[in-house]
Amino acid sequence: MKSVLFLSGKGGTGKTSLAGAFAFLAKEKVLADCDVDAANLHLLLDPKITSEGNFQGIKLAVKDDEKCTSCGKCREVCRFQAIDENFTIDSYMCEGCGACAYVCPVDAITLLLVDCGRWYTAQSRLGPLASAELYPGEETSGKLVSLVKEKAAGLAKETKVEALLIDGAPGIGCPVIASVRGVSAVILVTEPSLSGLHDLKRILGVVRHFGIPAYLVINKADINEKVSEKIEAFAAQEQLPVLGRIPHDRKVTEMMVVGKSAVEDAESPAGAAMSVVFERFTEVFL
Ligand code: SF4
Ligand code: SF4
Repeated sequence: MKSVLFLSGKGGTGKTSLAGAFAFLAKEKVLADCDVDAANLHLLLDPKITSEGNFQGIKLAVKDDEKCTSCGKCREVCRFQAIDENFTIDSYMCEGCGACAYVCPVDAITLLLVDCGRWYTAQSRLGPLASAELYPGEETSGKLVSLVKEKAAGLAKETKVEALLIDGAPGIGCPVIASVRGVSAVILVTEPSLSGLHDLKRILGVVRHFGIPAYLVINKADINEKVSEKIEAFAAQEQLPVLGRIPHDRKVTEMMVVGKSAVEDAESPAGAAMSVVFERFTEVFL
């Protein structure tokens, strides 16, 4: 199976708009939204949930007060100061390391898996979709991203589809690394600003670390011609193929508001540019 991941060094660069355009243009594919902190690919897809479940990514120590003899051994070994002088466990401080349960002489402490998000599979107007949401404040997004990819691979197997389009998380953190692992290609989406170029350099470093072929798209390229040229010069120097420039176009947002991609509007200049990007990518990669 071939999997294509859309990434950007930071949020708001138009990554999801391009992923949505590919979702519309590609014939047979499964879709995955790995931005588990703020999934929004579904806004373009009108999905109907077909299965869902809890995601249990972390363990927390829970004490049985009836068994506890207040010996204090658990507090001595807790490196995270999660156990107070009354030997009460603070669930916000607990890192689930299990040391307390190990030393407790009366087995009063148990490690319990805790719900920290939900995963979904759905049938959407543009194909099967796997996605998830991490509950606010939870930090195990990398594991949840891996679960979304697993669910998407399962959907692909079920439907005998050989292509997977993945909308990744912004930034270069744990969810990005989890989404990059094992994909066939990455399309990097950047905007012409100096911070955009800086973020591009960082994210390219991550992708290259995993030895995955990368391609570049410059979104809203016309808002700063000078920096767009700088980005293209950087891409040439890095042998990073540029699939195209997408112009700034209000229709992208207007179409998104009605749950569609810009490529579905024949009048949209950005939609036309996204179609060209899609064609170039399929020529060089698929
Ligand atoms: S599981 Fe680890 S972090 Fe949590 S209370 Fe026990 S020793 Fe402390
Ligand atoms: S080690 Fe076990 S018995 Fe001792 S204070 Fe902690 S929970 Fe209670």
